[in-house]
Amino acid sequence: MSNALAPYRRLTVKIGSALLVDGKTGKLRADWLASLAADLAALKAEGRSLVIVSSGAIALGRRLLGLDAKALPLEQSQAAASAGQIALSQAWAAALGAHGIVTGQILLTPNITEERRYFLNARTTITTLLGLGAIPIINENDSVATAEIRYGDNDRLSARVATMIEADCLILLSDVDGLYSAPPGKDPNARHLPEVALITPEIEAMAGGAASHLSRGGMTTKVEAGKIATGAGTAMIIARGTEDHPLQALTEGARHTLFAPAQSRAQARKRWIMGTLELSGAVHVDAGAARALLTGRSLLPIGVTKASGTFERGDVIAVLDPEGREVARGLASLGREEVDIVKGKKSTAVAELLGFNTRSEVLHRDNMVTLMGAEARI
Ligand code: GLU
Repeated sequence: MSNALAPYRRLTVKIGSALLVDGKTGKLRADWLASLAADLAALKAEGRSLVIVSSGAIALGRRLLGLDAKALPLEQSQAAASAGQIALSQAWAAALGAHGIVTGQILLTPNITEERRYFLNARTTITTLLGLGAIPIINENDSVATAEIRYGDNDRLSARVATMIEADCLILLSDVDGLYSAPPGKDPNARHLPEVALITPEIEAMAGGAASHLSRGGMTTKVEAGKIATGAGTAMIIARGTEDHPLQALTEGARHTLFAPAQSRAQARKRWIMGTLELSGAVHVDAGAARALLTGRSLLPIGVTKASGTFERGDVIAVLDPEGREVARGLASLGREEVDIVKGKKSTAVAELLGFNTRSEVLHRDNMVTLMGAEARI
């Protein structure tokens, strides 16, 4: 039996409402959550980083507030999310706390995942929590998100989270064990797909099934999530999570659908760099450095003659050759002020000038795209 999770080190696990909350009683499935927490603790003990995207706030909150109509008007579901989110984070803190794992709560909205300033900040918070050994528990900030600006489903939100933290795999735990060629409840000939190499229009057409009444996403939003994740180099698994120990089951060969990443994360990052419209600044380089970049080298301080604009580490900047042509673009390893200090200096002098904790290159080749005329080589 093959272990579906063996290749992955950084996982984002999305838990649907229908798993966490009993459809009939509206109560938390505490025993099931305890079994999932045990699985998570085991994966973490093997050295994996884990980020959870958990639904269930609205489903829990509606019972707490005595709202039982199936479809709630927006203001009531936002109120339900507000009450339910407290119960949800308490449940997670208790379940993982039983294994000595600290949880952190992060509530996101699309502007946070899409606007660079917030994006970088949210990512730093998540990776800092991971570095401290905690498990971040993420949900949409449903009680404040407006109708127009919300994900509305945690499938796509979890895909953005997975790509944001460069997870190598996103697992969607759901009430189905993967993608079928047709809705399995309706079509007796529906075939289970163990692997999807590429999300084609045919694959999208297979995903037309409806959601259960507790969760918002159906197969359609899951395949949408697959497009976001795989396009950025993150694999995605859809697996059934209804039984106890759903992640352990995946390590023991349980049926699932694997959506293969469309490209490596390194390539995806370079594609993202190429797509950046607003550059924060530029570094000017001598002819030798420009030539070295085109052969795939990192940009070292010695080749830099001048910096312009205001940029910090992590901002996208242009590299200009002595004629002022853009020869490369990438994520700065050093900020503008640091570049001003080290430009023209040997790499060995950088630690002395900036301290030992800084990078010695201005742009690392993994974070850079070189431009040949108008064409990008990635
Ligand atoms: N954010 C919603 C909640 O926590 C769930 C959205 C979804 O089901 O995908 O209730």
